[in-house]
Amino acid sequence: MVRVVLIAERLRHKRPVFSFEFFPPKTEKGETALLRSLERLAPLEPDFVSVTYGAGGSTRTRTLQLVSRIRADFGIEPLAHLTCVGATRDELARVLDGLADAGVRNVLALRGDPPQGEDTFLATEGGLQYANELVSFIKERGDFCVGAACYPETHPEAVSAEEDMTNLRRKVDAGTDFLVSQLFFDNLAFYRWQARARAAGITIPILAGIMPVTNVSQVERFTKMCGASIPAPLHEALHRAGGDPHEVFWTGVSYSARQCEQLLNPPAPDPYARRPRGVAGLHFYTLNKSPATRAIFEMLKLARSAVV
Ligand SMILES: Cc1cc2nc3c(=O)[nH]c(=O)nc-3n(C[C@H](O)[C@H](O)[C@H](O)COP(=O)(O)OP(=O)(O)OC[C@H]3O[C@@H](n4cnc5c(N)ncnc54)[C@H](O)[C@@H]3O)c2cc1C
Repeated sequence: MVRVVLIAERLRHKRPVFSFEFFPPKTEKGETALLRSLERLAPLEPDFVSVTYGAGGSTRTRTLQLVSRIRADFGIEPLAHLTCVGATRDELARVLDGLADAGVRNVLALRGDPPQGEDTFLATEGGLQYANELVSFIKERGDFCVGAACYPETHPEAVSAEEDMTNLRRKVDAGTDFLVSQLFFDNLAFYRWQARARAAGITIPILAGIMPVTNVSQVERFTKMCGASIPAPLHEALHRAGGDPHEVFWTGVSYSARQCEQLLNPPAPDPYARRPRGVAGLHFYTLNKSPATRAIFEMLKLARSAVV
């Protein structure tokens, strides 16, 4: 039986942490590819691996199966995502009981996006409206370590950046143990936002969300949806790659590696970090693929040993 590691506990003893995010595949081919990626990324010894929760709870069973497998077969601590979409409190309670029975104690509490074809999120009757309510619900239900999402460039539905910060504070006050950020490419925007978060009294660890660009149209679509910006130099370099997949890959990977290096070792000290400098951790959005994350990780290790 693999010992359960609460992410909050890990963060108390280790900075920075590294984590990888996966989604439950829909097909057998997708599952084979995912397992291959996990085999290749496991030797990097991530502190945890997270598994997303599909729209409307569509991956409920597969998310549970995958987190259980990650723990049993790879010995890696899983973080199960959970959303409020399409679920009553009773249904959410059953999912949480299933996770607890499987020995999963780390949960990322999310409101979730509106189901496909709908513009606005509507709470299910008997369900929850915002992630802060889900955080409270999970904490009341059992002994879980709870993470939540944050948005360095503001959540797209937020009335204003200030309101978004107030709502984030609400989520933290509900008992969130750590935050994982939406993907971003602009470190300066992240640091400005993090300083505002610290000034708003949010002192829990914040993991920076990193997505290596390997496909230009895909990242343009993602950033449009989530409100992240692509800095002009990166955008221009990606377009200069002229659709050559290898050029795009190395442009994206090199940018992410430099971005991570600066997040781990920022030029100016961060007075709020527990360690003298840098973010609490890096969370890689892998899209179930391993090469880009592996390449960045290798570059980071090289860069860090060079610094030491
Ligand atoms: C790291 C990460 C992982 C993710 N994983 C998944 C996943 O597995 N499955 C999935 O479907 N989606 C996932 N998402 C996407 C996420 O569900 C969406 O971004 C969603 O639109 C917002 O979720 P949230 O938990 O941040 O919501 P909330 O924190 O509830 O915020 C949603 C909006 O409501 C506002 N708000 C929050 N609380 C209040 C309040 N009390 N009163 C008034 N307004 C409020 C906020 O400012 C924000 O604009 C993930 C996002 C991130 C960053």
